[in-house]
Amino acid sequence: MTDLQQRLNDTLHALPDTVSLVAVSKFHPAEAIREAYDAGQRVFGESRAQELVGKHDTLPADIKWHFIGHLQPNKVKYIAPFVSLIHAVDTFRLLQEIDKQARRCDRVIPCLLQLHVAAEETKFGFTPQECREMLEEGDWREMDHVEIAGIMCMASNTDNEARIRADFQTAYQFYREAKAKWFADRPAFTLRSWGMSGDWHIAIEEGSNMVRIGSAIFGERHY
Ligand SMILES: *Cc1c(COP(=O)(O)O)cnc(C)c1O
Repeated sequence: MTDLQQRLNDTLHALPDTVSLVAVSKFHPAEAIREAYDAGQRVFGESRAQELVGKHDTLPADIKWHFIGHLQPNKVKYIAPFVSLIHAVDTFRLLQEIDKQARRCDRVIPCLLQLHVAAEETKFGFTPQECREMLEEGDWREMDHVEIAGIMCMASNTDNEARIRADFQTAYQFYREAKAKWFADRPAFTLRSWGMSGDWHIAIEEGSNMVRIGSAIFGERHY
């Protein structure tokens, strides 16, 4: 077993059965993904459309590719034919574009709504109030080619554990509100995507059922 495979196994063993792992492979070469694949991992996360397309073209077809980063509407068409889950829908306009491109591919693309809960203004995502307004407005219900499957967030970039915990609590509270108010008749709405290498322990305590872990498995990224 390689070091990478050992880190992958250690991570998987540490996760409760109810939590799924997205192995975040961005900026790492196809060979590293292949190592994780050979150890059984099938779900990988990427954050750049071009890089994702290149890796999709060269790696095994049964990999489930998640797009986890900020996605510009004009890039959706490149990944729409194959992407399994888009984590960070941060505008209604992006959701519309995903619906449009998914229709052209005759697919339904599962998506998560990204909630802005962090202290930094630079982060993307809907504020809880913006997200409420969009869901209440209801146009998303007419989109037959996207399936809103849950909520995603990134916590504040800080060592302050209380702040990180509070961010995840905000997201989990919003998830429960949304599930009761707008998704009660939509059983696909189940995913809580939060937790990365540095904060996934806290994320799981605060309701995550999908963690996105990169450097703890693949090592440091070289940009
Ligand atoms: C890079 C990235 C991750 C993984 O971060 P690590 O700290 O390497 O685990 C998770 N989520 C998103 C949105 C990312 O961009």
